[in-house]
Amino acid sequence: MTLQQNLDRAATLALPGLAVIDGKLVPAQSGKTFPNTTPRDGTVLNQVAECGPADIDAAVKAARASFEDGRWRGKPPREKKKIMFRLAELMERDFEDLALMETLDMGKPIRDSRGFDIASAVNSIRWYAEALDKVYGEVATTPAERLSFIVREPLGVVGAIIPWNFPLHMACWKVGPALAAGNSIVLKPAEQSPLTALKLGELALEAGVPPGVLNVVPGFGESAGQALARHMDVDLIAFTGSGEVGRKLMVYAGESNLKRVSLELGGKSPQIVFADAENLDEAADAAAWGIFFNQGEVCNAASRLLVEASIKDAFVEKVLARAGAYMPGDPLDPASTAGALVTEGQMKRVLSYVDVAQKEGAKLSLGGKRVRAESGGYYVEPTVFDNVLNTHTLAREEVFGPVLGVIAFKDEDEAVRIANDTVYGLASGLWTANISRAHRVSRKLRSGLVWINGWDACDITVPFGGAKQSGFGRDRSLHALEKYTELKGISVTYKV
Ligand code: NAP
Ligand code: MG
Repeated sequence: MTLQQNLDRAATLALPGLAVIDGKLVPAQSGKTFPNTTPRDGTVLNQVAECGPADIDAAVKAARASFEDGRWRGKPPREKKKIMFRLAELMERDFEDLALMETLDMGKPIRDSRGFDIASAVNSIRWYAEALDKVYGEVATTPAERLSFIVREPLGVVGAIIPWNFPLHMACWKVGPALAAGNSIVLKPAEQSPLTALKLGELALEAGVPPGVLNVVPGFGESAGQALARHMDVDLIAFTGSGEVGRKLMVYAGESNLKRVSLELGGKSPQIVFADAENLDEAADAAAWGIFFNQGEVCNAASRLLVEASIKDAFVEKVLARAGAYMPGDPLDPASTAGALVTEGQMKRVLSYVDVAQKEGAKLSLGGKRVRAESGGYYVEPTVFDNVLNTHTLAREEVFGPVLGVIAFKDEDEAVRIANDTVYGLASGLWTANISRAHRVSRKLRSGLVWINGWDACDITVPFGGAKQSGFGRDRSLHALEKYTELKGISVTYKV
């Protein structure tokens, strides 16, 4: 579709603004709404229900009732699977609308909403539907007079709190396995990007997910999010977002019912390029894509580029030559490879890191400024800093924007030391043709994911999550089902 076709279709989109609670589309009990804006041009898209503690309580009660009477978890696996497949089909039916909503809501290029976000959201629902009857329990080794078996049971009411950078994709990483495991869910999308989550709630009802099983409650983190995380009848908070909020969630859990918490937090992920890499052009492609994809608003963004000193200058030239391809354009233009940052505040935050990096002595090699200001939207050009030290703020804090820091290293030991010298541990990457080095270094890197000779080699079959302050718990793969289930050991004693 052309830019004009996207604009025309966007103008006629019916944007969801009501919460989905107990199978009904409802306003907030207070009647309050908040204006949902688009970073594309800073205008208001629609009014969205501003849910607070009373709405959260209603959603949790509906979820609990649906869990207790077994209207979802008690269905035969085949039935559950059929309904989840139908949900995936409905998401495909409304694919273009979902893609447009995502792009309008948080500013990512339509190319990525289509090619990545919505496509992988559909894939998550379908993959967990396929998996749900393929997970078996265990029989334990016991004395002869006993049979002990271990079953996995759904936890109960799952609270999912998600961020704005991949709204539907993140929601489905949680909703897919949580539903497949038989739970009931209360999903709180980020205030900046509620549209696709609300649409997901509506489509789930249409698909036949029973009322109360998937509730979607838009609102602010401090009120709706906090009420959910402090609720005495929520069994788990599955969270993706910042470390700052992750810390609060653990406090809320401790101060309420000791609910479980799983945290997918941020990163300061290193991509290490050794001089012996087989293909430096591919490595340079990955260096640029690794930081500029999704405007750098990626938890596993390759924000620290570690390059062996002997090739550093030549390699940086290659990266600079590729960075221009990520100059932001209108997010609705199918040709755009980068869009707007999510809010004005986020743009200012990113630009403040550019200032700090310059003050601390890094060399600005490219970019560093707002662009397309006349649109009213929040765009920052691809930015590269050379001569960064790992002690610089740019190397220590998550910028969550299109800002790359290049750090030189002299040998393998130093590369590993710098890569691990961070509080984070989400992902790391390395480029080398030396197979021993590839294995050796990958085992020394402290992160949940290591990518050798290819950045962000992501697949739903491989668990995703972090080490250290990047959080704990895993999304994707069958391992994700672990956090949505409880192990129960059942022993039968009989006469031998
Ligand atoms: P955020 O501020 O932590 O917000 C995430 C979610 O938490 C939002 O829904 C937010 O609601 C809610 N929230 C805020 N305060 C809360 C509170 N006191 N109690 C309960 N919920 C609360 O993060 P963000 O700025 O949206 O997202 C960016 C962060 O997410 C980055 O740090 C990034 O690295 C991380 N991230 C991690 C992964 C991963 O898989 N590891 C993936 C993507 C992003 P409101 O927005 O409505 O306030
Ligand atoms: Mg928005």
